[in-house]
Amino acid sequence: MTLKELKVGESARIETVGGEGALRQHFLDMGLIPGAEVTVEKFAPMGDPVELRIHGYELTLRLDDAARITVTKIDNPAEPVKPAPRKKPSAHPALGETPSGRRRDWALPANGRTLTFALVGNQNSGKTTLFNRVTGANQHVGNFPGVTVDRKDGAILGVKGTSVTDLPGIYSMSPYSSEEIVSRNFVLDGKPDAIINIVDATNLERNLYLTMQLLEMERPVVVALNMMDELTGNGGSVDINHMEELLGVPVVPISAAKNEGIDELIAHALQIAKEQIKPKVQDFCSKDENGGAVHRAIHSVAHLIEDHAARAELPVIFSACKLIEGDRLILEKLHLDENEKELLEHIVVQMETERGLDRSAAIADMRFSFISKVSDACLIKPRTSKELLRSQKLDRLLTGKYTAIPIFVVVMALVFYLTFNVIGAFLQELLASGIGALTTLTDNAMTAAGVNRVLHGLVIGGIFEGVGSVLSFLPIVVTMFFFLSLLEDSGYIARVAFFMDKLLRKIGLSGRSIVPLLIGFGCTVPAVMATRTLPSKRDRRMTILLTPFMSCTAKLPIYAFFVNAFFPGKGGFIMTGLYLLGIVTGILIAFFYKKVLFRGEAVPFVMELPNYRLPSLRSTVQLMWEKAKDFLQKAFSVILIATVVVWFLQSFDFRFNLAESSETSMMAVIAGALVPIFRPLGLGDWRICTSLISGFMAKESVVATLKVLFAAEGGITAVMSPVAAGSMLIFSLLYTPCVAAVASVKRELGWRWAAGVAVWQCVVAWLIALLFTVIAGLF
Ligand code: GDP
Ligand code: MG
Repeated sequence: MTLKELKVGESARIETVGGEGALRQHFLDMGLIPGAEVTVEKFAPMGDPVELRIHGYELTLRLDDAARITVTKIDNPAEPVKPAPRKKPSAHPALGETPSGRRRDWALPANGRTLTFALVGNQNSGKTTLFNRVTGANQHVGNFPGVTVDRKDGAILGVKGTSVTDLPGIYSMSPYSSEEIVSRNFVLDGKPDAIINIVDATNLERNLYLTMQLLEMERPVVVALNMMDELTGNGGSVDINHMEELLGVPVVPISAAKNEGIDELIAHALQIAKEQIKPKVQDFCSKDENGGAVHRAIHSVAHLIEDHAARAELPVIFSACKLIEGDRLILEKLHLDENEKELLEHIVVQMETERGLDRSAAIADMRFSFISKVSDACLIKPRTSKELLRSQKLDRLLTGKYTAIPIFVVVMALVFYLTFNVIGAFLQELLASGIGALTTLTDNAMTAAGVNRVLHGLVIGGIFEGVGSVLSFLPIVVTMFFFLSLLEDSGYIARVAFFMDKLLRKIGLSGRSIVPLLIGFGCTVPAVMATRTLPSKRDRRMTILLTPFMSCTAKLPIYAFFVNAFFPGKGGFIMTGLYLLGIVTGILIAFFYKKVLFRGEAVPFVMELPNYRLPSLRSTVQLMWEKAKDFLQKAFSVILIATVVVWFLQSFDFRFNLAESSETSMMAVIAGALVPIFRPLGLGDWRICTSLISGFMAKESVVATLKVLFAAEGGITAVMSPVAAGSMLIFSLLYTPCVAAVASVKRELGWRWAAGVAVWQCVVAWLIALLFTVIAGLF
């Protein structure tokens, strides 16, 4: 039978793992190896994906992938908690180090060279928290796998001449996702002076898999055993000295969140980097294990490629293991002769026959058996932790079959309400009145000083007005990210990704994209910024391109204005229709993207569900600060330029004289040129075109512009038919997002994509508004 057929609560032993290539390697790396025991914990509310417990941690897997794994059911699974023989752990430190070294005592590298460190670890192991502790730098801390996608560097606090790089969270050194490639290349080619490997002590089996591959790198390694507070708090402990012996590297128990053991970790890291102390143990196979077939194969291959590895500057044992697994990239780098390649294949086939497992599974199995040896010998398992019990209780509600989605809707509604109606709105008002006061002050000062009329206009009408209106987004961005950070750090968003996956997969995305898309209903700017958390580039791009189709709140005044003028009493109906139209268009466009622009599958959904953890205030504040900074940089570059350009167009005519009235300005002329394009939509009036252009600055100003320009005519109803109003509504819904949103797209994807979004949205909007006009014309 396959893993897919198991029911909740049933356990089974894995027989074979199907699939091929990198994807299969990924499953093996996540611990889905032949012989391992799995228990089905639950299915997502929509029936897919499934949550499994394996090697003592929780994984999510799509049913399609589960169908490729064959299993045999077992009726009485082994006790999940195997108490290790209780022995008295020896005290730590005991390796003669100086644990309480003050930072100022730490000597710098003698030759003035920068010592480089790579911070490597699984997702959610506390990497970012540790990085912040060690460097004091600002960085986002989240519980959602894949938060750290881009590289961050920082010097160790108080130690000049050092540089720590926070690498993306990874599970193995197989090049599967782009994150894994980044991290692997950094360690292999970047040759950091030392690797700081952060390991989640409450999830040792999962984390040590990566550690073993790092130990094979022939680089100095120090293991930072994190989350020790949680482990010891539940009666667990680790025999550090024994673990150091087995792994052959210093192991330092720490708690990044509680700031414990960090100084000792730094002392060790500096020492191994300066003295280049390499791991004492580099091979983990054993000749007594399962007939020793894997051991013999690894060492045969190691000898076979020794010279090639040295030439390619690759670590030998690591390369040997990767070759046996069938890693193409390493094979290419080694430049083996045909004869050697053949020999390699013979060795592998021999091993497969003797061991009874295929090449990748045999290596993964070797690693996991070493890991269980280490964990049996060194780890006194905690009783089922408070955190886990609490998580399970919460999950019964938050991912329950009938409760998950209603609760999610309520949570999001609450976030929106608080952001747009309460906190964000309050801050926005505060900021607006501040800017207003400043504007008046400057205005008066300039009048008093008799400043030139044009300059006066530029400062007040251009800069203050424009940047002020865009700055008014700031409170919303900051408040939104405050809530997002709470949801993310607590672990809730990983659950949302879990139960929304089935839906999102239909349009070629994974469950993780749901959050940015939803935020898009509030404001496109934070929505685009929130896509940072998506682990694959493809998903990130596609999500960014879809968010502008979600009708943002700034468009509400436009809807309200036209509903009032043309369709009084039908507001609810029309607004719902518009929102739905946005969503449906988004879905259709997504299908189009999936077929044309972004072929291929969304990232596979093998993901850990971390325990719910209390988010720390520190990281939340850091995130808000970072996002605010990010946004402000934008406001003062792209947006400022755009505002000044629009002001200029509105204030001058083509002879560069101040325009007498709005009709003679350059803007009016340009808008007039657009009239033929908009005529088929029933919008062939320069004033409407002007309002749409000003909508590019901020959607709210569409209404303001219309009101001013049509004031003389006795309102807009005099010049527009209801059909034209409908087409205007549709066009406003779908056309290019405002300059702040385009600027955020530029920041994430670059100029070309940003320009592409602006043009593409207009094309789509034009087509759909035309379609509406034509159909409405039939009745
Ligand atoms: P990353 O994904 O590896 O960057 O992990 P993060 O630094 O984002 O941490 C994930 C979660 O674990 C956050 O909610 C942290 O507050 C929490 N955390 C980090 N270190 C510790 C620790 O030592 N003890 C406890 N109890 N929680 C921690
Ligand atoms: Mg992180």
